Amino acid sequence: MSSVQDSKLRSKKCLLKRLISARRVAQVGFGAGLFLLLQNQFVGLGAVVIFGSALGIIFGKFFCRWMCPIGLVMDLMVGADDSDDTSGDSAASLYMYYKLGCPIAWISGLLNKFSVFRIRKKAEACVDCGKCDKACYVTVQNDATSLFKQGKSNPADTYTCSRCLACIKACPTGALSFGILACKTKNRKTASVPKQS
Ligand code: SF4
Ligand code: SF4
Repeated sequence: MSSVQDSKLRSKKCLLKRLISARRVAQVGFGAGLFLLLQNQFVGLGAVVIFGSALGIIFGKFFCRWMCPIGLVMDLMVGADDSDDTSGDSAASLYMYYKLGCPIAWISGLLNKFSVFRIRKKAEACVDCGKCDKACYVTVQNDATSLFKQGKSNPADTYTCSRCLACIKACPTGALSFGILACKTKNRKTASVPKQS
């Protein structure tokens, strides 16, 4: 890859990480806007359910963590702080909440596996550091999933992934990205997996 292509790719990844860091701001903006639209009856609840669910075809369960006012309240209630370590109680609460959810979460969660944009992994860029798994409330709660360990299911394909993209933000090498087409359902890297730090 040429140095120009390389620097373009790096700035694209940097932009994506900045966008992920601004998730809470986006959620406050969209959530407040949506709340006002509903309260003033400019849109009906049915239209919001259809919109949020349809968004699942493109992004998966994206609406909940980026646009939903109830999702925002839930984040604040459980103390989800977008840190790179989800070993606390908030991970368990998030996992339970996004397992139960609402009609939008039910439909868009089922679409996680088939959405146009999915979390992809560039295996050759992965150094098996495990930071992605530590940042993900799904892998912390569900041993059968991992973003990097071989033979495990991809947590981003599960119903409970809410497309917070914390895994991408935590990855130090840029091996993870959110783009068109899927990474494999099972990790197929054949290299041995060292212990996580
Ligand atoms: S987007 Fe990544 S960190 Fe967030 S729940 Fe899905 S797999 Fe886990
Ligand atoms: S954080 Fe990135 S480099 Fe580390 S294990 Fe996950 S995908 Fe691989």
